[in-house]
Amino acid sequence: MATPIVDTFGRKHTYLRISLTDKCNLRCTYCMPQEDMQFMPSKWLMQAEEISYLAGLFVEMGVEKIRLTGGEPLIRKDAGKIISALGKLPSSLTLTTNAVYIDQFIQELKDANVNSLNVSLDTLNETRFREITKRDHFTKTLGHIRLLLAEGFVVKLNMVVMRGTNDDEINDFVRLTLDEPNLHVRFIEFMPFKGNQWDMSKIVSYADLLTKVGQEFEYEAVPGEIHDTARRFQVQGGAGTFGIIGTVTHPFCEGCNRIRLTADGKLKNCLFDTSEVDLLTPLRKGDDIRPLIYGHFHKKHFAHGGHGGFTEKQAKSEYEQNREMIAIGG
Ligand code: SAM
Ligand code: SF4
Repeated sequence: MATPIVDTFGRKHTYLRISLTDKCNLRCTYCMPQEDMQFMPSKWLMQAEEISYLAGLFVEMGVEKIRLTGGEPLIRKDAGKIISALGKLPSSLTLTTNAVYIDQFIQELKDANVNSLNVSLDTLNETRFREITKRDHFTKTLGHIRLLLAEGFVVKLNMVVMRGTNDDEINDFVRLTLDEPNLHVRFIEFMPFKGNQWDMSKIVSYADLLTKVGQEFEYEAVPGEIHDTARRFQVQGGAGTFGIIGTVTHPFCEGCNRIRLTADGKLKNCLFDTSEVDLLTPLRKGDDIRPLIYGHFHKKHFAHGGHGGFTEKQAKSEYEQNREMIAIGG
């Protein structure tokens, strides 16, 4: 086992998120610019073998869990091959997906011992789904979530809550967890990235979310782990749980163990840090990339990529310098 990846705050980094592509079959308004999105040329993307090599290297450096994300990871033609290869590593594997193509991967997921997936769904209303995603895949998405549950997978349903867009559905999502032990809803505070029209007034905060749930349900906190992004709760008598990922108003940076690799092979030590280290070019030259990885994590800021906050002014100037969310990988 190689030296683990530890930053100057003593945080050991054991969770790798790999983006397979910046492309997607949806066009979610909060994730990407609605015009002039420049997608990466295919030749910039890490190839399946490069992904396997890098994943294996990170596992040697102490990574215990890998998440495939994007863009939409399942639009890659070789997604099944990548899932199968990474399923053989001595680490756990999971995915974040919009579930539109998930029906084609059920067996590969089972063979790779994937037992839990994050699925994005921001509304239970078909018209609203089209408004948010600009695509007509509502029925398919819902059907595929049911399929995953029927096949025995744990589903964590990610809902980005935006004031005036879908915040009237918060308790409808909580209701989904009442009878389904394998369904865990996670409300995500809307975060600022390049070109996503973020502003503070659109956020439904951690506190507001709990107030809203409390108007209809009695709930209690579920104990969590230091690395958790979501603070979890359970409605009394409920089967599943609901959680809140309060990145903006209720951060969880203290226990951060996350490493991000973009689809073009750039290492990010935080979702919000604009500094990146290119691993793919030196890898293709045959260089030892481990010093680059250790060095980049040695420079990791304690919180939010060193931005210090989420004021409106910062969002416009600093967070706009970051990539689009679709090009980072959530
Ligand atoms: N296509 C996959 C999906 O939608 O699940 C994976 C990629 S997506 C970028 C990963 C996660 O990031 C999704 O749960 C999505 O809802 C979330 N996300 C995207 N933009 C966001 C934003 N501005 N604020 C909060 N969460 C966001
Ligand atoms: Fe695609 Fe996921 Fe972004 Fe929506 S949130 S545009 S599904 S990558």
